[in-house]
Amino acid sequence: MTKSPHQRASTDDVRIETKAWIDGAAVPALSGRTFVTLNPATGEPLATIAACDQADVDRAVKAARRAFDDGAWSRCEPGERKEALLRLAALLREHGEELALLESLDSGKTIRDCRNEVANEVPHFFQWYAETIDKSFGRVAPTGPRAVSMIVQEPIGVVGLIVPWNFPLLMAAWKLAPALATGCSVVLKPAEQSSLTALRLGELAAQAGIPTGVLNVVPGLGEEAGQAIGRHGDIDMVSFTGSGEVGAYLLGYAAQTNMKPVGLELGGKSPFLVLEDAELTDDLVESAVMAAFWNGGQNCSANMRQIVHRRHYDAFAERIVERAKALVVGDPLDPATDIGAMITDEHRDRVAGFLRSGVDDGARILHGGTAIDDNPGFFLQPTVFDGLKPGMTIAREEIFGPVLGMMVVDSDEEALRIAVDTEYGLHASVFTRDINQALRFARALPVGTVSVNSFSEGSIATPFGGYRRSGSLTRDNGLEALAQYQQTKTIWIGLGTTA
Ligand code: NAD
Repeated sequence: MTKSPHQRASTDDVRIETKAWIDGAAVPALSGRTFVTLNPATGEPLATIAACDQADVDRAVKAARRAFDDGAWSRCEPGERKEALLRLAALLREHGEELALLESLDSGKTIRDCRNEVANEVPHFFQWYAETIDKSFGRVAPTGPRAVSMIVQEPIGVVGLIVPWNFPLLMAAWKLAPALATGCSVVLKPAEQSSLTALRLGELAAQAGIPTGVLNVVPGLGEEAGQAIGRHGDIDMVSFTGSGEVGAYLLGYAAQTNMKPVGLELGGKSPFLVLEDAELTDDLVESAVMAAFWNGGQNCSANMRQIVHRRHYDAFAERIVERAKALVVGDPLDPATDIGAMITDEHRDRVAGFLRSGVDDGARILHGGTAIDDNPGFFLQPTVFDGLKPGMTIAREEIFGPVLGMMVVDSDEEALRIAVDTEYGLHASVFTRDINQALRFARALPVGTVSVNSFSEGSIATPFGGYRRSGSLTRDNGLEALAQYQQTKTIWIGLGTTA
């Protein structure tokens, strides 16, 4: 591992907030309990954080409800809310480097990715949604001469946001920015493995002038703080990103309590398709490698299933292995690192279990397949499998690690059949030189995002979410994200029967 100026950065260089952010103040959990979070790159304790439970969530919901009802945010002048969110965007930019470093220490993600996601994309998201606030209009329905009917959008109220650890602040921003833009009050629960940047966000929001109680951040365990949000009778909706298992719990909690709507962004098993007429360019190879290994494969839209026409297969395999060998795995704080640490030791073991299962099922490891043991952190080599078959466990289950599986097919039709044979529907990449073929595949693939001749999840302007078991009808990002946090009201004004 090479040295960089950032390796010298330590926890002394960042401010670590470990308390919950409730009703405008940093507070310990009412129970006094805490939990310890580790730096995945060293395996050492990083922070001792307030372990919020039902009592703290209740306190946060009360603050959020009071803030929502008093209207200082939910019914303020649109320009006022816009200015406050723009101030928050500016503060996030100002603290970008500090937050990126905090995120990297907390999650094992590379500093390079954290700088892009946390210091660059997150402020942009708040700015983007801020700018929608004073440009959103209601509608007037075509009701004829005897009535005027207005269709207006209102903030849904108090929302619970529960986010995962793989893109900690980014996933929070995907939800928080549109929720705040609509005028909702929020109770945000970060993942227990990666709470630190969300806790700093609470303070920065207050500094930006977002009224007290509008944003509350409750760190804690999923079964405690998360479940308390899911079951709370005074939370009007929950937006969740995470595993299908927990998504199902949240649907259950809602059904057993106040029937709140639940927005779900879940896992995936996304295909990367190289069709017969594709050209095997550097760009294609780079896209394939990024699709599988970006963020150490800890990515819901990772294109782990790489389905390649026989015409290209051997050359593709050779170039993928060559590129995988060149990936730098190691110190997340080194800007030259491509793959940082896995989030926890347990998660690394889980991924290693999938590697064993792949071998047991007959797939062949061309590169990787091992942990990196000369380091106390949770590192894993990128692994390339040859001979992936549709029925194998590694071809069906979400691995969430740095694993790329290659599967050879004899026709584009076969590629499509295999691509759609999954319970998930989050993402797909298609490489072809034929525009008709690109559009045919884009229409045929039951997924929320199809990326043609690139690996991309889109941008803030484009909605992101899953078909099938990858999500619910809700979408993050784009103007579509606003709808999750709003209700539609009809105001019908009768003009009298003689009008
Ligand atoms: P997870 O489901 O284990 O945890 C997500 C969040 O849910 C965490 O905050 C956790 O504390 C909380 N939680 C856990 N148990 C809970 C419970 N009983 N009640 C309420 N909340 C609870 O997921 P993870 O391991 O943090 O993240 C990985 C998963 O997230 C993968 O499946 C990945 O595909 C998915 N993901 C999806 C998207 C997307 O946009 N579709 C994006 C990123 C990650």
